[in-house]
Amino acid sequence: MTDIDPVQLTQKLVAFDTINPPGRELACIEMLDGILSSAGIATSVHRFADGRANLVATLGNASEGRPICFTGHVDTVPLGNAPWKYDPFGGEIVDGRLYGRGSTDMKAGVAAFVAAACATNAKKFDARVMLIITAGEETGCDGAAELVKSGMPEPGGALIVGEPTSNVPMVGHKGALWLRAVATGVTAHGSMPHLGVNAAYKAAHALNKLEAFEFNQAPHPHLGKPTLNVGAVRAGINVNSVPDRAEIDIDIRTIPSLAHARVKEHLSAELGEEISMNPLVDVPAVWTEPEHGWIGDVFAIVSEVTGKSPSPYATVPYFTDASVLKPALGDPPTVILGPGEASMAHQIDEYCLVERIHEAAKIYAKLMEQWRPLRV
Ligand SMILES: [Zn+2]
Repeated sequence: MTDIDPVQLTQKLVAFDTINPPGRELACIEMLDGILSSAGIATSVHRFADGRANLVATLGNASEGRPICFTGHVDTVPLGNAPWKYDPFGGEIVDGRLYGRGSTDMKAGVAAFVAAACATNAKKFDARVMLIITAGEETGCDGAAELVKSGMPEPGGALIVGEPTSNVPMVGHKGALWLRAVATGVTAHGSMPHLGVNAAYKAAHALNKLEAFEFNQAPHPHLGKPTLNVGAVRAGINVNSVPDRAEIDIDIRTIPSLAHARVKEHLSAELGEEISMNPLVDVPAVWTEPEHGWIGDVFAIVSEVTGKSPSPYATVPYFTDASVLKPALGDPPTVILGPGEASMAHQIDEYCLVERIHEAAKIYAKLMEQWRPLRV
């Protein structure tokens, strides 16, 4: 088989419009399915909505124990309001930068591990590898959640998330609990407010409580403290009516010791019966102790390929599909490690450095070739 060039593959992936919402990842997933299948790798496409699908690919023999897993998403965020200097679907390379929506976050990461898997398969290594390529990550790990709901994937021995880290391994991130708090009232004409119940006032009381909310939780030594932010408040339709509904969107970032069920209980007690709460996103924190043996192997391989020795306690500010996939895989050690630049994610004129894509493909190939699972 012919070698897959991870840079050219990134360009091909960038050419697909997989802006989410609405997503429409299927054509992109089918293209990857074709590449992996032609390389002799077993694949399965898991559709979960019209034009949307995840892809799972496995290499090696099941008797070899649990696979080393790589995950990445192919959906992207919208283009933003400002004009782009470069075609967001062009994949143009200028001064060593590959431009396009999703280049950094994270089609380059997907391209690098797909290229590494094809090369590893051709060399007939025994170790098992599983690729989990998802849709619908940007709106809250929806694709990964659909995959898990359908009974996938099988347990894994380790997990690498190819999200943008400039090829620096990161051992964790906070969880996210996004809630919509809703207050209801009774509408009336604005000239007769005594005939109604104003939902905006109920929301105002809730806002005061949210501002003063305390988690009463010791900070994590590396992820820090949990946080709470009110991101959006909506109430009323026009100036001369009593609003009968108010919404407060709450963004909570959690640490591993803080169970989301406990946070919800605590908040419900604080806000009282007047406020109902619906989860928008609910994904737990991810953390692996850097002292874990396999994490040590990852750092050794990264140092060997990049010539740099990264900090073992680095973490990423965003959340990833690992929140959903790590528990589903049986809680294996996990690193976030990918070629993109975290600072370019979701930006106008997003780019990924070409050199880092080659570097990531080398790192991933070594991780696959050197994978020695415990037989289970
Ligand atoms: Zn991403």
